[in-house]
This record gives sequence, structure tokens and C-alpha cells, in this order.
Amino acid sequence: MAAEKALALVVRTTDWSETSRICTLWTRELGKVRGLAKGGRRLKSNFEVALDLLTVCSIVLLRKSSGGLDLLTEAQVVERFPRLRTDLPALYAAYYIAELLAEWTEDYDPHPALFDEALAALRELGQDPGRTGPRLARFELVLLRELGYRPVLENCTTCGASLDGAKLAFSAAAGGVLCSQCQPGQRERRPLSAAAWQTLRALSESGEAWQRDWPATVRGEVRQVLSHYVTYLLGRRPRLLPYLGS
Ligand SMILES: [Zn+2]
Repeated sequence: MAAEKALALVVRTTDWSETSRICTLWTRELGKVRGLAKGGRRLKSNFEVALDLLTVCSIVLLRKSSGGLDLLTEAQVVERFPRLRTDLPALYAAYYIAELLAEWTEDYDPHPALFDEALAALRELGQDPGRTGPRLARFELVLLRELGYRPVLENCTTCGASLDGAKLAFSAAAGGVLCSQCQPGQRERRPLSAAAWQTLRALSESGEAWQRDWPATVRGEVRQVLSHYVTYLLGRRPRLLPYLGS
């Protein structure tokens, strides 16, 4: 067994026994890890508090060499996100982030940029009610890029033609936006307004664009497109999806 230190976001916890639990952690150094926390359910221990959902902690992990569960031996709180507890849409968005990280990433496949983006999103969610949706959309676009599913938004994803915003469609199966000429050849598609297309492009290209004042109708359409695309790629609807606002 080798001891490894990492900075971790707790994305899931499951009771294992009366005193222990299994934690799924999204770490900056190691990617996703699952570790058994013995004594992790003891009341009021520092170890227990550090392993609460959506807490950032520094951990020491004893990595099993073959099969078996890794063992968490230390966990100390580094950061919490108290604003989430007072803003329900932001809290649901945060749970959704945890769900995607827990279920869509591979064990021991680190993506430091995605780790940093997740923490930034958790800090910024709930700052402004009208921006929770765009902030979450920015996280999803970074996640999609990191996992190799960045939607093609600049040109037609099938023929490469440049787009002027007229008669666009988004196809999850094709992985992006379709020009009007390519739409008949792809049954899996949905209409995409020029405004939602511009918004998706802005959110994809810039880490600041979520702070702009996006109209509610456009936010709603962006939510629908991303929900559809994530569900298509994941093969099922994420549990938190019905609770997300725009
Ligand atoms: Zn085309």
C-alpha cells in the first residue's frame, strides 16, 4: 500500500457499517477515488465533518495495490460553501455537479482543470439568482470539454459550413450544431435559436460570460439543450436534472 496525499471534493458518501462509510472523492491529483473511512460516522469527529458532501478536504489515502477499497486515513476541512445552504437552486446545481463528477469520471483519471472549475462553480453559485443557470452551464461545458465531448458550436458539426444563426439545430448524436442543409440527414436533432446558439458559444469560450445578463428565455433553452446532450451522452437522465432551474 502506498500513501497518497490529495486535495479532494466529497461528491458522494455511503454508509458502510455502523461506524464507517465509503466516500467518493473528486481529487485534483488523482481524479476520482473511492475510499473507506473507518470511524467516519463517529459523531462530531473532525474526520467525520471533513467527509460531508460538497466539502473540500485534504486527504491521505492508502491505495490498495490489487482490488479492494482504498483506505482513507486522514481528512481535514479546507473549504466549505455555506452560501449553498441558503439558496435552494444553487444547492441543487451543486448536487448535480457532484453527481456528474461521481458518475461520469473514471477512477484515477485526473483532470486538474475540471477540479478547479468545479470549485470555482461551487464558490460562485448562488451569488446572483439569475446567474445560477449560466454558471452551471459553464461548468457543464468545461466538463464536456475535459471528457472529450465538447459540442461543436462554431461551424456545422457535419459539413463544417460556417453558420449565420438562421435555421440552426442541435444534435446530440452528431455532437453539435447542424446547418440547415445537414439537418434532413440527422433525425436526432432539435431546433436551436440564434440567441441560444450565441449564448452557448459565449459560455463555452469564456469563463466570464456567465456573469452577463442573459434573458430568461435564452437561459431556459440553454438548459434544455445541455440537459438533452448530457442525458444522451450519459445514457440516462441524471437524478438531479428535474430540479435544475435556468
Ligand atoms: Zn452542414
